[in-house]
Amino acid sequence: METTFRALVSDGKGLDSIKIKKVETSFLPENDVIIQVHFSALNYKDALSAKGHPGITRNYPHIPGIDAAGIILEDKSGKFQIGEKVLVTGYDLGMNSSGGFSERISVPAEWVHLIPVGLSLEESMILGTAGITAAIALEKMEALMRLNSNNLSKKNILVTGASGGVGSISIALLKKAGYLVTALSGKTELTNWLKSLGADEVINRKELLEASNSSKPLLPSRFDGCIDTVGGEILESVLKVLHKEAPIAVCGNAGGVNFSTSVFPFILRGNSIVGVDSAHIDKVWRERLWQKLATEWKPDSLSEIKRVISFQELPNAIRLMLDGGSHGRVLLNCMLK
Ligand code: NDP
Repeated sequence: METTFRALVSDGKGLDSIKIKKVETSFLPENDVIIQVHFSALNYKDALSAKGHPGITRNYPHIPGIDAAGIILEDKSGKFQIGEKVLVTGYDLGMNSSGGFSERISVPAEWVHLIPVGLSLEESMILGTAGITAAIALEKMEALMRLNSNNLSKKNILVTGASGGVGSISIALLKKAGYLVTALSGKTELTNWLKSLGADEVINRKELLEASNSSKPLLPSRFDGCIDTVGGEILESVLKVLHKEAPIAVCGNAGGVNFSTSVFPFILRGNSIVGVDSAHIDKVWRERLWQKLATEWKPDSLSEIKRVISFQELPNAIRLMLDGGSHGRVLLNCMLK
């Protein structure tokens, strides 16, 4: 095994401190499983970790990347065969453990999942953390929606932050699962692309904010559910326009951490807020979600969602994401020179 490998290393002192360089194997933590990474993907958390956000990563120098898929190089646990195709998403990968923006990772065997039949290594990373997040949101919403209705097909589900990684995968997943999908986006120039992923309607973020800019606690209802990746005032607005018994799955904070609401969506319309934490769900649950994502929930439009980049292009992709200009899933192909 080579003693050095390529990786993106951050010193935690802003984006100018990130470098693509050769790293010694001794940089990696001691673990049972070593994986040759073929693909990773850029998530918002990775961009924050690369920049030096202490709430994400405490110790630098550090290799970010909460997603990785590749081939087993070594396994001391005996659970995997050399050469098997595997993936890791979540747990502590890329947070305070060395992550997937790297040709190699060293991880505990419990974090590792075999690539399910039906997905390629590349497809598993187009989905990645965004796919697991969208799938948890959908499973939780479906459990609540089924209490009130036996027929979920054609329910109209809103996706906020629609052009982002979690947003775009959510659109494609909801379409595949048989829902009507409304995309809420600040990027109206991407309307045709959002429709190509599966959105039936695209609403400008400003339109929703203006319509709900009222002291009224409830407004005419429009949606049967929502996957929210934005939080803040968008979440406040969505809570005013949900149909009776509609749930909202809160996944992210791209637009803000705090929100205020009244009790009325909950006591007059029976609405529910459910939380999504993709990093720490049980392994058995995660395994079931990967099976679904590889079969009945495998989006038809995965290739439309990805933009493939090399290590050299990664620093600029991180800047773009932090500036809010990214869209879809940015896929790092670690084998590109
Ligand atoms: P992206 O940067 O890919 O997408 C975020 C999207 O949110 C943007 O594309 C934009 O979409 C919208 N947005 C950005 N800034 C604002 C703003 N100020 N106001 C309103 N909308 C905004 O990030 P990800 O998809 O990777 O992550 C999205 C969120 O989900 C993040 O907060 C992330 O931390 C969280 N997350 C949570 C997970 C969990 O387990 N709970 C797992 C993965 C991510 P548009 O222009 O179309 O409106």
